[in-house]
Amino acid sequence: MEKKELMYEGKAKKVFSTEDPSLYIQSFKDDATAFNAKKKGTIQNKGIVNNKISSILFQLVEKKGIPTHFVKQLNDRDMLVKKLEIIKVEVTIRNVVAGGMAKMLGLEEGIVLDSPVFEYHYKHDALDDPLINDYHAIAINLATKEELAYIEKTAFTINAMLKDFFAGLGIDLIDFKLEFGRYGDEILLGDEISPDTCRFWEKGTNRKLDKDRFRRDLGGIEETYQEMLAKVTSGAV
Ligand code: 5GP
Repeated sequence: MEKKELMYEGKAKKVFSTEDPSLYIQSFKDDATAFNAKKKGTIQNKGIVNNKISSILFQLVEKKGIPTHFVKQLNDRDMLVKKLEIIKVEVTIRNVVAGGMAKMLGLEEGIVLDSPVFEYHYKHDALDDPLINDYHAIAINLATKEELAYIEKTAFTINAMLKDFFAGLGIDLIDFKLEFGRYGDEILLGDEISPDTCRFWEKGTNRKLDKDRFRRDLGGIEETYQEMLAKVTSGAV
C-alpha cells in the first residue's frame, strides 16, 4: 500500500491517504514535543521504536477481542490503519500518581493508587487539553453516553491487560493516554501506545523508561527508547 496525499501532520506523526478510501498510513516521526509543543526536540529513531512498539501492543489488544485501527506494520516507520473519525476526548488511566495528577492535587509522584483513576481530557491544543467529565463531553457533543460507556469499559480492560504485560517485563505501568475513533458503526482504539503516551517505571528502581526522560531532561533518551523496544519485543514472542 502506497502513501498518496498528506492529510494531516501532528506533533509525532504524519497521516497519509491511500488508494483505499477506508485506510490511512500513519508515519511515525522522530520529532518530540512536550508541554503542548512549548518544548521541542528530536529523539533519534523514536519514530521507528514507537511504530514497532505500537504495532505489537495493538496486536495484543486485538487478541483480547478489542478492535483497533491497526491493520499492519508496513515498514520501520509506517503503519496501515483504518481511517477513523477521531473522538475529541483523550482518555487517561492512572495506576500511580505522576505528572498532571501530582500537579493538580499536590501529591507526591509514586503514590500507588488504591484503584485506577480514569480521566477525560478535551483534545484541544489551544486550551492545553483541559480535564473534563462525561457531562461536558456529552453536553458539547464530543461523544454520546453510549460511546463513553464503551470507551470507559474498554480502557479499563486495556489497563488490566497492559499492566499485566509490562509487569512480566519488570515494568510498572504508571499511566497512559488512549484515543478512540468512529469507523462505521464501530468504535476503534486509535493513535498509538508507546513510550510517548505511557509512563513506564522500572520495577524496584523506579527508573523512568518513557518520554519523561525528554520532558525532564533526564538524559539517555535514545537508549531508553531502544531498551523499551527490546523489552516489548521480547515480551511479545
Ligand atoms: P499527564 O496528564 O500526567 O501529563 O499524562 C498522563 C499520561 O497520558 C502520560 O502517560 C502521558 O504520556 C499521556 N498523555 C496525556 N496527554 C498526552 C498528550 O497530549 N500527548 C502524549 N504524547 N501523551 C499524553
